[in-house]
Amino acid sequence: MKNKLIEVENLSVYYGQHQVLKDVSFVIEEGDYVGLVGANGSGKTTLVKAILGLIPVTKGSITYHGSGGVHKGVGYLPQVAVTGNTLFPGEVHEIVAVGLLGKKKFPKRITADDNKIIDEILRRLDIYHLKHNKIGDLSGGQQQRVLLARAMVSNPRLLILDEPTSALDPKVRTEFFSLIRKINEEEGTSIILVSHDLSSIKKCSSKIMLLDRELLYFGSTEDFNMNVNFVEGIHDHHNKEAVN
Ligand code: ADP
Repeated sequence: MKNKLIEVENLSVYYGQHQVLKDVSFVIEEGDYVGLVGANGSGKTTLVKAILGLIPVTKGSITYHGSGGVHKGVGYLPQVAVTGNTLFPGEVHEIVAVGLLGKKKFPKRITADDNKIIDEILRRLDIYHLKHNKIGDLSGGQQQRVLLARAMVSNPRLLILDEPTSALDPKVRTEFFSLIRKINEEEGTSIILVSHDLSSIKKCSSKIMLLDRELLYFGSTEDFNMNVNFVEGIHDHHNKEAVN
């Protein structure tokens, strides 16, 4: 049994009268690579926000077992939204530096040591040569890596990636998925990758979490793949949604 990182127990979330998550329970362990899948509106983003502490938990609990608390221990990569916005003024190294400011006390300053850490992560993600470029001038795939660098620069134990490849072409998407797998394998960083694309995520995640307001499945990807009837049922469900 590996160490527990995050434990969610009987979590329910309401927006007003509207219940969005119902009695969700699971444990994320050190080194897990979890594919969080579900149709639009199934509560994926709500679950991520609850883990990040951005929305109140109506019922149940979320316990973070790592050191330093959830805000230092969890890195978050939102969907790419800046693409094509050449007016967005930040340079790559400045955007990545923001990922270090969150854990500093006032006065928040970037030190020479911080700059070394920033350079290291830029090299690690093959974007060092873009250090002084404006993020709005970069391609979608490059922007994705800059946001990944920002999420990773504080060396989090868990990275949560929200539909990171929806804006990317298939080749860049595949490269990005393998980069995430490398980070998971080489650095032991736990991953939760939110996706609506079950067939892509199945190829790289070690666990699958299937959500439809309730938790329909949480376990190894292997077991998930072996249970063919179950998987076909889900495909039917997805196909119906696509038609409706
Ligand atoms: P997913 O990420 O799987 O698409 P969400 O967590 O975004 O699902 O949404 C789940 C449900 O909660 C949807 O029915 C959505 O309309 C509703 N919802 C999401 N955010 C809010 C909000 N801020 N206020 C009210 N309802 C919301």
